[in-house]
Amino acid sequence: MSVSYTPMLEQYREIKAKHPEEILFFRLGDFYEMFFSDAELASRELEITLTSREGGQNTRVPMCGIPYHAADTYIAKLIGKGYKIAICEQMEDPKQVKGLVRREVIKIITPGTVLSENLLPDQNNNFLVVVWEESEEISLAAADISTGECLWTVFSGLYRLNGLCDQLFRLMPAELVLASKLENIAELEAFIENRLSRCTVTTLNVSDVDSIKALPQQFFSPAELPQAVGACMAVGCLLHYLQQTVKNDLSHINCLVKYNAAEHLILDAATLRNLEITRNMRDGSKKDTLFSVLDFTQTAMGGRLLKKWLEYPLLKTEEITARQNAVGSFLELPVVRQNIHRLLTGIYDFERILTRIEVGTANARDLVALKASLDIVPEIKDCLQDIRDPLLAYLQGQIRNHADVVELIASAIVDTPPFSVREGGMIKEGYHAELDELRFISRDSKKWIQELESQEREKTGIKSLKVGYNKVFGYYLEVTHTHAAAVPAQYIRKQTLANAERYITPELKDFETKILGAQEKIVSIEYHLFSEVRDYIKEKIKEIQQTARQIAQVDVLTALGEAAARYNYIRPAINTRNEIILKDGRHPVVERLLVREMFVPNDTVLNHTDSEVMIITGPNMAGKSTYMRQVAVLVLLAQIGSFIPAREASICPVDRIFTRVGASDDLATGQSTFMVEMNEVAQILKHATQKSLIILDEIGRGTSTFDGMSIAKAVIEHIKKKIKAKTLFATHYHELTDLAEWNGSIKNYSVAVKERGKEVVFLRRIVPGGADKSYGIHVAQLAGLPKGTIERAQEILIELEQQHVCVQERVAQEQTAAANQPTLFSSALADDILSLDIMTLTPLEALNVLYKLQNQA
Ligand code: ADP
Repeated sequence: MSVSYTPMLEQYREIKAKHPEEILFFRLGDFYEMFFSDAELASRELEITLTSREGGQNTRVPMCGIPYHAADTYIAKLIGKGYKIAICEQMEDPKQVKGLVRREVIKIITPGTVLSENLLPDQNNNFLVVVWEESEEISLAAADISTGECLWTVFSGLYRLNGLCDQLFRLMPAELVLASKLENIAELEAFIENRLSRCTVTTLNVSDVDSIKALPQQFFSPAELPQAVGACMAVGCLLHYLQQTVKNDLSHINCLVKYNAAEHLILDAATLRNLEITRNMRDGSKKDTLFSVLDFTQTAMGGRLLKKWLEYPLLKTEEITARQNAVGSFLELPVVRQNIHRLLTGIYDFERILTRIEVGTANARDLVALKASLDIVPEIKDCLQDIRDPLLAYLQGQIRNHADVVELIASAIVDTPPFSVREGGMIKEGYHAELDELRFISRDSKKWIQELESQEREKTGIKSLKVGYNKVFGYYLEVTHTHAAAVPAQYIRKQTLANAERYITPELKDFETKILGAQEKIVSIEYHLFSEVRDYIKEKIKEIQQTARQIAQVDVLTALGEAAARYNYIRPAINTRNEIILKDGRHPVVERLLVREMFVPNDTVLNHTDSEVMIITGPNMAGKSTYMRQVAVLVLLAQIGSFIPAREASICPVDRIFTRVGASDDLATGQSTFMVEMNEVAQILKHATQKSLIILDEIGRGTSTFDGMSIAKAVIEHIKKKIKAKTLFATHYHELTDLAEWNGSIKNYSVAVKERGKEVVFLRRIVPGGADKSYGIHVAQLAGLPKGTIERAQEILIELEQQHVCVQERVAQEQTAAANQPTLFSSALADDILSLDIMTLTPLEALNVLYKLQNQA
């Protein structure tokens, strides 16, 4: 028999049935309550007490609750753990209705749709990504509703899943919504598990394809639509999902950008990771990354944009040089740069404030922060006026002043308003006549009470009489029992305490109505006025967003100027000769991390004629991978328009950078390291073009030496013959240096090493020619292996080397001896014997052959 619960719990169950995947926050007065399994889950995750509540028919149901005003922190905690929350509010005033209050879910908060400040890290976007696969095409739509950005892209062909994974790695979504069945879901899941660990994955059941497809029509031009069927679905599902969760006007998502891979230098997930561009390999944070070295941005918006520039470098020479010119101007004008830098420090993340204004969650403090930011904008505009640079002049022109918004906020909102918008104290004196009057009454009340108190004391002769206030009885006159006899007849007794009585008088009650009415009115007028201001700004969101985006660009360009000035970077020339030349290049991150040593700069020449493939040999820890990464990072830096750490440089933009570096940690997926490595190499060989840059660090290590060496050699030959991409190849196999003889543009290099007695010094200099020793034991010693073990290793090495020499000598001796000995097959008869077809030979013929042999011997 099914239990029938109390009406309230039945209401709960009905709503919860529609939200099985979310934790339902059910508003009950001043609390959000959770029941049943939600209560058990939430109490565990939030470490709050699990209680129970009478559920009807003598059953008790599990329950836990949190005060509604503190909900934000709890929500943040649950969202941080990947849960989704449905917020169910009371839709009627409980005082006004009899029986059950109507309740509704007003929004669903998910990791990809959060808007609360404490859940949004300043320098990171918070993307919600939707994926749709149809007719062998994967379409992706992504939105960061906290900033209003929205983009889409389509991956097709055999490697569409790789394209998707690379894009996901760049976006690092907080939430991924799978809207259709995906062909290679297992691979995608493995990628998410390994690389997007903080991403919540949701599936969306699309029932009404037509209406979803119709949602994003406004974003696509009629010409675009026929080719963008899948994309239309992806964007449609995204909008649909937002409608379902945010349940609010989201018109600040007003500009849908197509991400076109062909417009950017493509960096796949492995390369972004290996080169530690925006996240390090250790823990995925920004520490010791290229981003952290360059990040002199002052605003959160600038920080996010710099990240984007690093993840999507440019291809077109004009675009690169335009940014270079701007960075150059800032480098040459340190005073302007510093002024702008200083001004930018006063700018808040108003891109995100605009979103809060849009969805109606902005408070008065947000408006003050917006005003403070917009106040500074004209000053930045002025500073930019002093610079003669086309890009900066363009940005200067695009930045608006928004004086109306500034004035409005300045006149309406106090300088330090409270957090809440429902308790008054936000609106400035002099902004609204009625409000001022009510405030006057309210303020005057104190004086009035004091006067009343002294009057009554005088009238009654009770010196200790006082006027007080509490929430239940309102204003009262309090007299201790000792003076009870002196209380006048018109006092009406209201409450008896242990040592005093509390009274009211008609006069006091009149006053109370006026005062309390005034207070209530003040709060409601203030809220109304505040909403008016907010709505006014809402109309201007698009324009202010524009300004925010230009300010972000100015921020990044000044930051690059600052990095160039501080770290002595130079402007690389951009060539179209398919050539990369670096004189005294440095690794921007490693050079910052070295404390005791100085960074040793190195040269690089990569072009089709002289040196297309560099084979770099040298001991472990000598600096091979640092060097190779340095080349890749400098090219990337040049392509975002930044200056670079070198003495001189000329760079031809590359279309892709591929890296296969070090041991992979994909073991969790069940693939062996070698398999992962081969997969990566396969990807590189398939996608690389003549314009690509390939970095291969010791491929073929995970298998036997001969296997590894053969694969390595075949890979280089393939690159050289078929692809002609600029390639840097570090290897342990000294045998590969022979390749230089096979083709003139394969060049051998090694890292110079100096032996001083027993000591080995790595000079970190890349020099022409191959290396002939490994110095592995030396590295083991550096790493702190016990002395005894090191000495024993040295003995074994000497033994092995001697054995190796002996073996080689023996082989050589045997070969010479063999050469000198007459053998059966050295005679002319051998040819005769070998040409016999034994299967068809008759016994007689065989006898004849033997006879002939005998005669010859
Ligand atoms: P390998 O790839 O040859 O094993 P790495 O490139 O990992 O060696 O370099 C080992 C260490 O040597 C780096 O961590 C860095 O501290 C130092 N190093 C590398 N290159 C340089 C350089 N050019 N100048 C100074 N120190 C360097």
